[in-house]
Amino acid sequence: MMTHDVASLTAWLRLAAAHFAAAQAELNALDQAIGDGDHGANLARGFARISEKLDAAAPADPAALFKLAGMTLISTVGGAAGPLYGSFFLEMAKAAGTPTELDGPALTRCLVAGVAGVAARGKAVPGDKTMIDAMTPAMAALQRGATLADAATAAHAGVAATIPIVARKGRASYLGERAIGHADPGATSAAMLLDALAAAP
Ligand code: ADP
Ligand code: MG
Repeated sequence: MMTHDVASLTAWLRLAAAHFAAAQAELNALDQAIGDGDHGANLARGFARISEKLDAAAPADPAALFKLAGMTLISTVGGAAGPLYGSFFLEMAKAAGTPTELDGPALTRCLVAGVAGVAARGKAVPGDKTMIDAMTPAMAALQRGATLADAATAAHAGVAATIPIVARKGRASYLGERAIGHADPGATSAAMLLDALAAAP
């Protein structure tokens, strides 16, 4: 069975940092269309800071790693996404408990708890054109026993489903029908975060 220890989960967050650095302009452009254009810069900055902290010291267990990520995102990323992704990782930390390794079902429980944390903080439901639209189908796939790669694919389908709808949460909600035709930036970054998890060793 595939297990996830601090080393592999650290590899996930480093890969996510690389993905967000590479996709910074793409995510900014998505946010330019229906927000204020900072989503890529926000995530690139936040995850770069996480990587720096991981260079300085390795966390003791998955819970400590997730807590480091959540606290760093809350303190270095402003706007909506910082507190939302911060809640995601802090709730993952709480769900992780004390083991030094997470097996597949344990990682799924952590991820599902993280998504519940985002929903609790942001009060978004599926169909509001937010990161929740990518996260929810991915969690449903994992809970059916799908692989991380299949969960990431489900997240990308969730991103595509944000294109033809109006937004009911966040800055894009002020645009009304003008948000139609654009993918949600936060849904796109959430799918990238799952891509990185699926690709991590
Ligand atoms: P800001 O909107 O403050 O500039 P970002 O641009 O970094 O912050 O993030 C925007 C993304 O945050 C949106 O694309 C959306 O996915 C997500 N978002 C905004 N509000 C909410 C919410 N209430 N619940 C879930 N996600 C949200
Ligand atoms: Mg923005």
